[in-house]
Amino acid sequence: MLALAARRMGYRIHVYSSEAGSPTGAVADQETVGSYDDAEKVAEFARTVDVLTFEFENVAAECAAAAEAVTIVRPAGNVLHITQNRIREKSFLRGHDIPVTPFRPVYSPADLEDFPYPAVLKTAAFGYDGKGQQKVASLQQAREAFAAVRPQPLILEEFIPFRREVSVVGGRSVRGEFFHFGVMENAHANHILDVSQGPVTVAGPPIEIARRIFEELDVVGVMCVEFFETTDGAYLVNEIAPRTHNSGHLTIEACTISQFELQLRMVCDLPALQPEYLRGTGAMANLLGDAWDTGEPDWAAALATGAALHLYGKREPRAGRKMGHLTAIGPHAVETVFEARRRLTQKP
Ligand code: AMP
Repeated sequence: MLALAARRMGYRIHVYSSEAGSPTGAVADQETVGSYDDAEKVAEFARTVDVLTFEFENVAAECAAAAEAVTIVRPAGNVLHITQNRIREKSFLRGHDIPVTPFRPVYSPADLEDFPYPAVLKTAAFGYDGKGQQKVASLQQAREAFAAVRPQPLILEEFIPFRREVSVVGGRSVRGEFFHFGVMENAHANHILDVSQGPVTVAGPPIEIARRIFEELDVVGVMCVEFFETTDGAYLVNEIAPRTHNSGHLTIEACTISQFELQLRMVCDLPALQPEYLRGTGAMANLLGDAWDTGEPDWAAALATGAALHLYGKREPRAGRKMGHLTAIGPHAVETVFEARRRLTQKP
């Protein structure tokens, strides 16, 4: 989606990917295949571009450093370094007085004691879409979960009985201007983002918190800050996703400028105006590989609702794999994306 925005504005694109034939490769001018911990290869690639950004957070710190030695990297490698590890990320936020889910790093079974259960035990790195995390009801369960996943560093978080999950997709320019798409509400199914809608009205300060995080991290580019809205109306940061495509992709149809074009403008040091919603509101429903369970989904039936379809061109529709999304805008956006998705798998 970022490459499509770049293509439209006449940029040439060179993508670095761990797999040949990536969706971005299909719209890029050039594709380099390499691993995300091969600093030499990343440096060789980085020499060919004027500005480098990333859409994947699990890139080794040495690779970001190697790229920074030869080209402009936005957001900077230290933003990636902090946000790719839950312990570093939450410690950074807590150190800057930003409200986060109460947590504790776990290196040995002793670290599991004297913690308020139920809790969630997560791997500190390489976890997303609920991978590498487990809800633990008691100290005993936490010990069992620890034994199953060590020796990697873990983080123990209080289980938050949230009212809803909301996020702020924001962007910051080289000069420190901050842009955002308001507050979006996100519903998850099996720990995977299911439906986003925005903007929603909130009583609290998520946009202000997001702005502070961007400033403290000195971000240039677009990121998503995810929050739990607790039952007593507080906002706790759950995580920062340094990926433009993390959530809220409804902005492609719904806003005067999409989050992808905003990302492009921020990293290429071009001006932007604060995004606005064209028809007040928008909604997005993810399409997982499960939709192919009973054969090819009925695209025509879904499109007849007026929803827009995005398919990423991934070849294999595996269960739980994000294959694309549906978007609708205007006052009936949420109902429309639900109906469109329902029709995909409805048998005549
Ligand atoms: P994460 O990978 O940390 O974004 O977690 C994925 C999803 O799991 C979140 O969007 C929540 O729905 C749920 N979750 C994660 N951490 C917690 C927590 N501390 N309390 C309650 N739910 C959580």
